[in-house]
Amino acid sequence: MKNNILDYKLEELQDWMKTNKEPAFRGKQVIGWLYKGIDSFDDMKNIPKALTEKLKDKFSLSLPKIVKVYESKIDNTKKLLLALEDGNLIESVLMKYKHGNSICVSTQVGCRMGCKFCASTVDGMKRNLTAGEIISQILVGEKILNERISNVVLMGSGEPFDNYDNVNKFIDLVTADYGLNIGQRHITISTCGIVPKIYEFADKNTQVTLAISLHAFSDEKRKQIMPIANKYSIKEILDACNYYIEKTKRRVTFEYSLVKDVNDSKEDSKSLAKLLKGMLCHVNLIPVNEIKENSFRKSSDKTIEDFKEILKSYGIEVTVRREMGSDINAACGQLRRSYLNSQQNQ
Ligand code: SAH
Repeated sequence: MKNNILDYKLEELQDWMKTNKEPAFRGKQVIGWLYKGIDSFDDMKNIPKALTEKLKDKFSLSLPKIVKVYESKIDNTKKLLLALEDGNLIESVLMKYKHGNSICVSTQVGCRMGCKFCASTVDGMKRNLTAGEIISQILVGEKILNERISNVVLMGSGEPFDNYDNVNKFIDLVTADYGLNIGQRHITISTCGIVPKIYEFADKNTQVTLAISLHAFSDEKRKQIMPIANKYSIKEILDACNYYIEKTKRRVTFEYSLVKDVNDSKEDSKSLAKLLKGMLCHVNLIPVNEIKENSFRKSSDKTIEDFKEILKSYGIEVTVRREMGSDINAACGQLRRSYLNSQQNQ
């Protein structure tokens, strides 16, 4: 298979030009076209034909195919089911906010972390996405919206820190001035808590927002819903977060999906508040998205409100995630699964 040209950094393309006896400035011209969202080498207007042919010979340039766009009737959310070059399906979500357009991208086909409430992980992990495949979700999103995307969250299917090198290359590309030029502060990377990678990422010294999927205040409770808790303790995760805060001076986000009778009691809230007190952090409460693969149910509005107020009373900053596009199979991994199932049943 040819190399996906979207996987290349400017320096790498310039090197390629040199090796192929082309002037280095062609690298910048070519990459400029790529980030305009073209999907054919023939669309590169100022590139000589001979070079276009060489590029076609060596590289592939294929944006994922749009299999389906689900549009929410409640808000402006659009969920995309995309097919990669090898036929694998992934999901991305486009959200329109007052402050601009956001996209939630996938980093792997499926996921192997095994969180009990999550649909992405039900069939395990098929493969990592390349940096170019993660970027191309944004390029497709901008085409669909016909507008620029200014915020990126790595919260789609997959565990970003289980695909560390490609995700880092993606961050380099998406923030590069020759790339999509999105500021580091407009990127959020969400992890279930792979501790050594949190340290490694902290040492990269970016301004990217780190979000941790915590979902429980104790290791015992966390182990019931997140297998990764058997590997790393909450104490180890919080130590790593404090290192991240020290290095970057950035506020860390803790995601907490509220599941009825599992982690949503007043005691849970108090214990969580005590655990996080004094930390430069923010808690994002997510009413669990109910999926048919499990029996987890959403907490009542009253329970969610009480949970939030208790955290606030301890001085913890907290928000409840608005349920974007709840009418269109909200949780990660659901679109792909329901689409694959419907194909199998035909
Ligand atoms: N693997 C990464 C990022 C992908 S999941 C991580 O674990 O952070 C993005 C967020 O959605 C995580 O906090 C995840 O725990 C949460 N999530 C997954 N399925 C969910 C569901 N059914 N309801 C609510 N939140 C869910």
